[in-house]
Amino acid sequence: MEDMKMYKCNSCGEEFSPDDAEQETFIEYHGTSVVSDICPHCGSSNIEEMYECKVCGNLFTDSDLTDYVCDNCISENATLENAIKFGNDTKVHVQINSFYREIFDERMINSIIGIFVKKAKVGWDIDKAEKFCLEDKSEFAEWLRNREEDNGRKKILLDKIKR
Ligand SMILES: [Zn+2]
Ligand SMILES: [Zn+2]
Repeated sequence: MEDMKMYKCNSCGEEFSPDDAEQETFIEYHGTSVVSDICPHCGSSNIEEMYECKVCGNLFTDSDLTDYVCDNCISENATLENAIKFGNDTKVHVQINSFYREIFDERMINSIIGIFVKKAKVGWDIDKAEKFCLEDKSEFAEWLRNREEDNGRKKILLDKIKR
């Protein structure tokens, strides 16, 4: 159960554990032989290791993962709520009316706009949120993975405190 390692065959799509892999001996130019794992279904040596998506835990090959997050988790998480949190962690500079800045600090300005966006609910916010999250897929994937790791760490801490 601990050994989660899996392979996927790029030729036929078969997914298998190293235990189920078959071996083939390849002779190299210099006459040395190399034993390689091959697909037990079609015999192809074009096999790839699979890795866990850090959000859903399912296994994927490298090409289906962005920063260890699968495409499905990335698009499912491209929500308005996450866009606001993601934006909060990737702040930008803007020009703002200096009188408004005089009355409100940065936190107040952000929460006023936050209230406006949540109240607006006219549809554009949902589309913009999705576009904003997926604009730089790898940055968003990295953010999701870090958040998942932070949540994991917090859970361990909470469990320790409870005990
Ligand atoms: Zn195969
Ligand atoms: Zn996933």
